[in-house]
Amino acid sequence: MARVLVIGGGPGGLTAAISAAELGHEVRLMEKGRIGENIRCAEGFFDVLKKLGKPSAGVRFKVEKLIVRAVNTYEIDVSDLNLWMIDRREWQRDLARTAAEKGVAIEEESPVLPEDLKILQREYDYIIDASGAPPITSRIYGFSPFYKQNCGKTVQYVMEGNFSHIGNNLKVGLLPGLYGYYWIFPKDNKTANVGVGSFGKEPVMLWKLLGHVLEREGLSGYRVIKELGGICPVRMVPQLKYDNILLVGDAAGLTSPLHGGGIDMAMLSGIEAAKSLSSGGKDYEKNLRELLSFRLEVETMAARVWEKLGFDKMEKLIGTLVKTRLYKPFLNPTGFNTLPFRLVFKILGVENAV
Ligand SMILES: Cc1cc2nc3c(=O)[nH]c(=O)nc-3n(C[C@H](O)[C@H](O)[C@H](O)COP(=O)(O)OP(=O)(O)OC[C@H]3O[C@@H](n4cnc5c(N)ncnc54)[C@H](O)[C@@H]3O)c2cc1C
Repeated sequence: MARVLVIGGGPGGLTAAISAAELGHEVRLMEKGRIGENIRCAEGFFDVLKKLGKPSAGVRFKVEKLIVRAVNTYEIDVSDLNLWMIDRREWQRDLARTAAEKGVAIEEESPVLPEDLKILQREYDYIIDASGAPPITSRIYGFSPFYKQNCGKTVQYVMEGNFSHIGNNLKVGLLPGLYGYYWIFPKDNKTANVGVGSFGKEPVMLWKLLGHVLEREGLSGYRVIKELGGICPVRMVPQLKYDNILLVGDAAGLTSPLHGGGIDMAMLSGIEAAKSLSSGGKDYEKNLRELLSFRLEVETMAARVWEKLGFDKMEKLIGTLVKTRLYKPFLNPTGFNTLPFRLVFKILGVENAV
């Protein structure tokens, strides 16, 4: 049994804490704010590898279709994916309850300060750093710039209005000149998260672009009840273990290079970090890479095609993908060898973009 400190009460930290407690470790979790508050998320729970089941709480609806608008609008049946719209506050509060039941000592409004980290490293056998991007560990070990250099940037409004036209679906849209997308993720008929993100290196005026999105989607008269923004670290950090610290979730650079979602990888990395404690954390990086590398490789390939093609060619590509249903493998990237994916790109005539 090890003494484990988890930093951060997001999906990564809570899942790591639950898993570590289930394995018999003594776990303390420190969260700088209140669990479930100040969440920056469109709140789509997309378990790409289908390993996590239905979210334990906070479910709003199972997503049936992805509506994609470029020039034309396409509808993609995603009912066979493990994709849910959730309320993260409710869900994370439920995870915190589960963690407490399993014996995790949870301390809210308890930020871990950079100057305390070295002391805590001596007090605990292991620290699981799930404090988001950039994590507290990066400040001490000097790799904070990595996250800014390898991230998507986003802004989002929480809006009130009539979203019944979207139904139990999620809508995303592409815009000319933007390597990224906007989203309208309804939580119910009257509330939705509406945001835009850019994966490109060039600076983009995202708030201005979001204003344009509202006009394009006929949402200009709707009421904004919250504004938020944040980064999605889309590249796994080269090193996941620093002495007795393991990085998990956004702290490990684990959001999708294709769409920026990171809840599922935060949870999976939390589970793997906890499992690795019995081996001194040595197997963590190897096992996590085994679990995620293929998926990340396929998503990176698809993202590269998207970046190189630009808006007009992407419009054509999406049309073809929807007609031929060749989009399916990209939404569920399992396998060992990227050859079939490269073949799909060849059939679509975009292999040079990979
Ligand atoms: C606008 C936006 C929309 C997004 N939409 C989606 C989506 O729809 N679906 C999806 O899957 N992903 C989405 N993401 C990504 C997703 O939110 C993250 O990948 C996910 O939250 C990562 O979980 P985490 O536990 O690693 O980190 P976080 O959720 O960031 O949790 C980190 C926690 O650590 C705490 N903390 C920070 N510093 C300290 C400290 N020093 N001491 C103690 N505690 C600390 C924070 O308060 C926070 O609670 C979105 C991201 C953004 C920015």
